Amino acid sequence: MARRKKIYEGKAKILYEGPEPGTIVQYFKDDATAFNAQKKDVIDGKGALNNLLSEYFMSGLNQIGVPTHFIKRLNMREQLVRQVEIIPLEVIVRNYAAGTMSKRLGIEEGTQLPRPIVEYCYKDDSLGDPLVTEEHIAAFGWATQQDMDDILSLALRVNDFMSGVMYGVGIKLVDFKIEIGRVYDGDFQRLIVADEISPDSCRLWDIETGRHLDKDVFRRDLGSLTDAYTEVAMRLGVMPKTSTPVTKPTLIN
Ligand code: 5GP
Repeated sequence: MARRKKIYEGKAKILYEGPEPGTIVQYFKDDATAFNAQKKDVIDGKGALNNLLSEYFMSGLNQIGVPTHFIKRLNMREQLVRQVEIIPLEVIVRNYAAGTMSKRLGIEEGTQLPRPIVEYCYKDDSLGDPLVTEEHIAAFGWATQQDMDDILSLALRVNDFMSGVMYGVGIKLVDFKIEIGRVYDGDFQRLIVADEISPDSCRLWDIETGRHLDKDVFRRDLGSLTDAYTEVAMRLGVMPKTSTPVTKPTLIN
C-alpha cells in the first residue's frame, strides 16, 4: 500500500494530498492545544466530533450559497476539501464580548455588542496571532481591498447562519473564528470559507444555563471537553444515532 503524501501538519489537523488535483484530505486529530500550544492534551473523540460538526456547518453553508472548501466527509476522522491558498488572517466575528476582547477593552464577558464586530488577526504562531487593522492587511499585501469586502461579507453571512442554527438548539453563538481561502476557476478567482468550523473555533454558551460548550472548557479547565462537544453534536442531530457514541455522551434532557 502506498503511503499518502502529507502536505501539512498543524495543531489540530493533518492535510494529505487528495485523490484528484485540487483536492485535500483533512484529518482531524484528537490533540487539543490552547494559549499558543503552551497547554496541550490528547482528548479521545475530539477529532471525530469536530469532523462531524465541521461537515454539518460547512455543508449547511454550501447549501445556502455561502461557498466553502467542503466536498464530502470520507470517514469518522477525514473529509475531502478543495485545496485553497489560505489568506494569512484569522477572521473573528463577535456577537457578545468574551475572551481577548473582554480583556483588551475591559468589557464584562457576556455583554451583548451593539452589532456584530469583525476583527482580523495575522496568522503567525510565533507572534501569537496579533490583532491587525485593514491598514496592515492592505499595506503588507495580505489581501486586497476587494478581498476585504468579500471576506467581510462571507464572515457576516457565516455569522447569520451559525447564530440561527445554534439559537435553534438553545445555544448562543458568542464569537467564532474562520479562515478564508482563495480558489482559482479558470481565469477567475474567488474566496471561500476554509479550515474548519467547530467548537474548537467558536464560543458556544447554553442559553438557559450559560454553560460553556466549546474549547473554553479545555482552556479554562471547566470539565469534559468531549461531553461538551457531544452535547452540541447531539442537539444538532449530527451524532449517528445507530453507532456507538464517540465517547460516553452526557445525556441531555
Ligand atoms: P479570542 O480572541 O477571544 O481568544 O477568540 C475569539 C474567538 O476566535 C473564539 O471563539 C476562539 O475560539 C476563536 N479563535 C481565536 N484564535 C483562534 C485560534 O488560533 N484557533 C482556534 N481554533 N480558534 C481561535
